[in-house]
Amino acid sequence: MNQQNTPIENIDRLKKAIEIEVAHRYIDIRGRSCPFSMFILNELKNIQRQNKENPKWKKLVALFSRYSTDDLSARMSSIRELVNALKNPSGQPKSRPNFLKKPEDTDVMYVKGVGPRLGDMLNKLGIFTASDLLCYYPRKYLDYSTSTLIEDLEIGMEACVFGEIKNVHAYTSKRGLNILTITVADYTGAVTASWFYGRTNPKLLQKYKSQYPKGAKIILTGKVKYDDYQGSMAFDNPQVDIIGSVENATQNVPGLVPVYPLTEKLNIKTLRNAIKNALELYADNMPEIIPAYIKKKHNLLSKSQALHLIHFPQTEEELEQARQSLVFEELFLVQLKFAYLRQANTKILSPQKIKPKENGLLEQFIKSLPFELTDGQKNAFNEILSDMKSEEPMGRLLQGDVGSGKTVVACLMLLAAIENGFQGALMAPTEILAEQHYKNFVNWLTPLGLSVGLFVGKHSTKTRKQMRENLLNGQMNLAIGTHALIQDGVEFQNLGAVVVDEQHRFGVKQRSLLKEKGLNPELLTMSATPIPRTLALTVHGDLDLTIINEMPKGRKPIITTLIQAGKRRQAYEMIKKEIISGNQVYVVFPLIEESETLSAKAATKEAERLQREVFPQYKIGLVHGKLSPQEKETVMEDFRAKKYDILVSTTVIEVGVDVPDATLILIENAERFGLSQLHQLRGRVGRSDKQSYCVLITDSKNNETINRLKIMEQSSNGFVIAEKDLEIRGPGEFLGTRQSGLPDLSLADIIKDTKTLEIAREEAFDFLKNEDIKAYSALFEWLKDKITKDLDIINSG
Ligand code: ADP
Ligand code: MG
Repeated sequence: MNQQNTPIENIDRLKKAIEIEVAHRYIDIRGRSCPFSMFILNELKNIQRQNKENPKWKKLVALFSRYSTDDLSARMSSIRELVNALKNPSGQPKSRPNFLKKPEDTDVMYVKGVGPRLGDMLNKLGIFTASDLLCYYPRKYLDYSTSTLIEDLEIGMEACVFGEIKNVHAYTSKRGLNILTITVADYTGAVTASWFYGRTNPKLLQKYKSQYPKGAKIILTGKVKYDDYQGSMAFDNPQVDIIGSVENATQNVPGLVPVYPLTEKLNIKTLRNAIKNALELYADNMPEIIPAYIKKKHNLLSKSQALHLIHFPQTEEELEQARQSLVFEELFLVQLKFAYLRQANTKILSPQKIKPKENGLLEQFIKSLPFELTDGQKNAFNEILSDMKSEEPMGRLLQGDVGSGKTVVACLMLLAAIENGFQGALMAPTEILAEQHYKNFVNWLTPLGLSVGLFVGKHSTKTRKQMRENLLNGQMNLAIGTHALIQDGVEFQNLGAVVVDEQHRFGVKQRSLLKEKGLNPELLTMSATPIPRTLALTVHGDLDLTIINEMPKGRKPIITTLIQAGKRRQAYEMIKKEIISGNQVYVVFPLIEESETLSAKAATKEAERLQREVFPQYKIGLVHGKLSPQEKETVMEDFRAKKYDILVSTTVIEVGVDVPDATLILIENAERFGLSQLHQLRGRVGRSDKQSYCVLITDSKNNETINRLKIMEQSSNGFVIAEKDLEIRGPGEFLGTRQSGLPDLSLADIIKDTKTLEIAREEAFDFLKNEDIKAYSALFEWLKDKITKDLDIINSG
């Protein structure tokens, strides 16, 4: 950290970071050098040092030490606390945040053609150094050869036109609609383009108008129609890019022109110039980080070439080649880190020699099950078993839809260890889930003569002491529990296998604490939140991946219906019918404006309304994020015990909780959820052989929204839905509130660059296995830096 920074400068930086984190929906976003929470924590510690007497900083330090492992609502509330603490307006001095700068890198201000004024603007875009500038890649490219001259436009064609803004007109129609119309001309004629803003406030309309200065060069893309009123060709709501100049267009030079994400005052010509200069002066100094033999094998460009061509390609082919090279580098580095973590983890060979025993516990257990294992379960267990037999300890992520039978697979894995003389542990994120597992495992394993213990916070000191003894002396074969399992004093005699359920709810640190209770035990983590393979490899790349993509036979898919808000009565009729048949119902509300308090209020009000006006005859329970964990669990227990017919809730209801009689879930404002989240919620019903239903309510009339929600009616496969969701929302939003750890990728597209990802992963793992990384100094430095920072995170998480 820079010692000269005043506290004020620190506060500006904090605010900026918070803005970014909130915009990314609290995923603990990774900055260039470390994750958000880590950065905040460091800053807070500095501030705390200078303000020893004020206790609020100490509290904030405590809050942000937990941030990376906190759930969404806790994260939101920590940020609110922080924002409040920072609301101390002491002016906003223009300062150059220099926390991102590496010492050997040139300040962007000193790049030829930049200077202090442009430098300030670039800083606002997150560009602080010459290499930042080189890595500020174009948002897209314009190919002037594909444009149409205005005189050649025809009705109905999809066209792209380059021209100059001649006229701008903003007005309110007789019906009160706000309309913005501009006239754009090239040397062959003129077209109009209109945007319709509904009943926007007029001030906003003026603001929109100011974005289209007369004389500016503009590109319109859209469908051509004929405007009777104007008597010319026209575009309605076209896509638009305002560019500083069309030098290439008028000169008719071949080549692609880069378009960059800009701020209001930043002129694209100036920016392009600055980048040109930076390329000449600095591109050759950029470290060639990928080993030469790998570059050669995959036909990758040198870093300098790639940078030149990504900014100023002459042809699509050049652009593609440059992109490939840079994408490969990004993905290779991400995977190299995983390869390293993996290697560090497997260096100590596991002492356990696992070999299935003839007529052992495993066989007996499988025979005792009232059902056949599905092929998906068998394959998953075979993968697990071959890992367990090998000397390298397993690190695996088991993904499968809710209800696909992951628990049985986990049990098989634990039994494999137990029948070879080891103990097992299973950790779940909440008491209610831990207890549910405990009941299952007691039913399954006591007939086999095994002893299972439950470790949760609420046990009396005496029970706890007894259980700890049994665990330590080896009488207990399997320990199931919450975080209580990783406390000091919980010791195993011989821990050989660890299962972590709903693994994304735990931090890296908690997982490793549990593992440390044994001597490099086999690790199986599980998640009922399917994420597509490429994304899984990008976020959990240190784990191998097993997928169960199959449901037990005879499972009835949940019937899903999308209903317009106006027809809510229909849904209430369905609810009545279910309750009369002796079933139970969930009613779920989305998070309102990122605020747990507002959401809790909305849910409370709705519960009261339903009770008073719609279902006076039924018992209605309520659960929301403002209740304590203990209160939440009590309500859930009561619901399970059928003390309520209907449970109104915000999104806090647990993913894995089994309420077999719950057969209908109604989700209000469904459009506010991502598809995967809807699928998760839907998984709370259909937990028995009864037919279950999911009703999605929306008041949206937007076609895109409706079509998106209709996917839920059509598919019940979590992986299919996850792919679609990822496609629609992109990885950041998709992972959003559920998991953090998305690496900082500027060019690579997790959805499109699947193939490159697989290749880069293989190369990275092979490289670390076969080469001495110390012989590759740039790469070695990079990795060292990365790992130290990550270790810091682990240690502070
Ligand atoms: P999840 O993957 O959501 O953790 P569970 O392991 O809890 O799923 O399984 C859901 C239900 O399906 C449980 O009641 C379990 O006993 C049952 N089940 C698991 N495997 C099978 C199977 N092969 N055939 C039939 N039912 C199964
Ligand atoms: Mg489960």
